[in-house]
Amino acid sequence: MTKTDSLKEFWFRSTKQIFRDLNKHVLDKGSRHKHRIFINRGSNILLMAHLDTVQKPKWDRLEGDTLYAAGLDDRLGCYLAYRVAENLGLDLLLTDHEECGKTTGAFHTLKDYNWIAEFDRGGADVVTYDLDSPEFIDALDDFWGVGQGTYSDIASLDTTACCVNVGIGYQLDHSADSYADLSETANQMQRFQQFYNKYKDSKFTQVESEPIDWMEDEIPSRKNSRRFWDECDICGGGGVKPIFGYLLCRDCVEYMVESCRIDNELAGIDHRER
Ligand SMILES: [Zn+2]
Ligand SMILES: [Zn+2]
Repeated sequence: MTKTDSLKEFWFRSTKQIFRDLNKHVLDKGSRHKHRIFINRGSNILLMAHLDTVQKPKWDRLEGDTLYAAGLDDRLGCYLAYRVAENLGLDLLLTDHEECGKTTGAFHTLKDYNWIAEFDRGGADVVTYDLDSPEFIDALDDFWGVGQGTYSDIASLDTTACCVNVGIGYQLDHSADSYADLSETANQMQRFQQFYNKYKDSKFTQVESEPIDWMEDEIPSRKNSRRFWDECDICGGGGVKPIFGYLLCRDCVEYMVESCRIDNELAGIDHRER
């Protein structure tokens, strides 16, 4: 039997295999678009990570404290979230399809949590994507630097609880050459433990930031209005990624690429010459 407490043996296999092994915790089993692993321990706090990876997960080598492996984003996070949730008795949600912006976490009906933490970030800071309140930022600020991020599962959740994505020490997230400084990982988990000890019973609810009056001809930068984060700038749909300063869904990107090509053809312009 493969043990979930072995990063190398359990968490570096195919997503399919992990879903199979944690079968009894899978919700929406029949649907690839919605399936997710949820362990309900009756906790007020939820931990998250995503199982899908850009590179096929592959363990390379451990050199001192440095682990070289493909797929650390976010298999290292899955391993940590699973273990920490087990040790502290927290709820756990492991999703699929985060990397293409269509996280299965969006289909999860959430309990009324005190706060939610995801382990899906390189380095050693934390980000909240505006899913926060001044009190939550103050609380985080005592333990970490609060940085700016673009997207992770928590940004697509249907919740009013404050959310944080915690850096877990990996680098080159989507590369085949990704690696992690496991001493930084351990440090981050220690800080998380301290944050948890202090705030496990505090309820943090998201507060919307002040609405901004845009100048008519100004293109809004979505960087600081992350509430709108998962809406496409063109169609308002979900599953978006930041592209050249816009947030666009896959359909709109494909439509734009295609209509540019047709426009150029009609105008007799070869875009390679421009
Ligand atoms: Zn990730
Ligand atoms: Zn990623």
